[in-house]
Amino acid sequence: MIIAPKTRGFICTTAHPEGCAANVQAQIDYVKSQPALTDGPKKVLVIGSSTGYGLASRIVPAFGNGAATIGVFFEKPGTERKTGSAGWYNSVAFEAAAKEAGLYAKSFNGDAFSNDMKAEVIETIKADLGEVDCIVYSLASPRRTDPTDGETYKSVLKPIGAPYSQKNLNTDTGEVDSVSIEPCTEEEIAQTVKVMGGEDWELWLNALNEAGVLADGFTTVAYSYIGPELTFPIYTNGTIGKAKEHLEGSAAAMNEKFGAGTAFVSVNKALVTQASSAIPVVPLYISLLYKVMKEAGNHEGCIEQIQRLFTDHLANGGEPTLDEKKRIRIDDWEMQESIQSAVGDAWEKITTENLSELSDFSGYKTEFLKLFGFGLEGVDYEADTDPERLLPSQS
Ligand code: NAD
Repeated sequence: MIIAPKTRGFICTTAHPEGCAANVQAQIDYVKSQPALTDGPKKVLVIGSSTGYGLASRIVPAFGNGAATIGVFFEKPGTERKTGSAGWYNSVAFEAAAKEAGLYAKSFNGDAFSNDMKAEVIETIKADLGEVDCIVYSLASPRRTDPTDGETYKSVLKPIGAPYSQKNLNTDTGEVDSVSIEPCTEEEIAQTVKVMGGEDWELWLNALNEAGVLADGFTTVAYSYIGPELTFPIYTNGTIGKAKEHLEGSAAAMNEKFGAGTAFVSVNKALVTQASSAIPVVPLYISLLYKVMKEAGNHEGCIEQIQRLFTDHLANGGEPTLDEKKRIRIDDWEMQESIQSAVGDAWEKITTENLSELSDFSGYKTEFLKLFGFGLEGVDYEADTDPERLLPSQS
């Protein structure tokens, strides 16, 4: 099959196996080009390991520290006639590269929120690794079925208390228009917290603890975002912000339960991922941010961010540096005064007409397509390719 991108708004319904493999390989190559980690985790469980920040969180300990990794994700395998999802092909490529490097890697495709998935992963840890010493929680999901009551909750991206109007980018047409979003209900806040808060993170850690598979001195980390004031109503002060607040509460509860310095929330940079491209206003902010940070010479992608997370905070014998709310801040470069004021100035001026001059929208589009394995150097997109791929650990 010849596979080309088919985009609809913020989704691409096709993915390219060789392109995704090239994307994964580029991240592996980056990690290998960095100094190896010392004293880092050796047996790592990544929940949400197939794309974005979670994929990078699997690659860094594996290729920077020789760690065994178990990955959990919810992806669509390809069939003879239909392409799989990018996260599926990423995971196939990751496992193949890990196997070639002599590294243990197993992956689980299914619902991380379920009890069955937790039990299955724990059985594998017991059988293969005995224990895990680092658990990265990097899920981004629009819904969650709570295994205790069987109810399905939905997360929404809405402001709280008042409508929100802001400039917005139509990423299909390249038009800068505006968006107005009505405030959420109390019920929508509760549902978003159920999906994107820390409840399931804690359920995972409790299940691992009860099964006796947490190594002495283990650490766990989940990801959050803060960003600039202009997105506060839709992010930090909106429904998703409430869920992230809950995530911080879960970290505090786990530090209480398992000992101080076990659970961390890391605040990461705004980056093009499948999850962030669905948030109103954010793609325009990211396009401006990329331009400013590339010019300043401190632009990072997921892999550079997570390399820095492990190098400066989770490995190399040091303690994580925390802010006043006990969070790791790898969004520090994004939030620098000079970066934010340059983005803020451009935000005031940005229109459809000056979009390509003031922003890095072309970089945004390139990154977006790369998420699905398109536009990578050295990949022959005219060649016939087999969309049906097996995870090496399955075959
Ligand atoms: P992403 O969409 O790239 O990845 C989400 C992952 O979750 C994928 O591996 C997917 O398969 C998995 N997943 C979703 N539902 C699942 C389910 N039911 N069971 C198993 N796996 C499931 O997202 P991302 O942008 O990398 O986000 C990861 C985390 O990082 C989120 O907490 C997000 O809020 C946070 N974060 C993202 C940004 C950003 O700009 N992208 C910035 C800071 C923090």
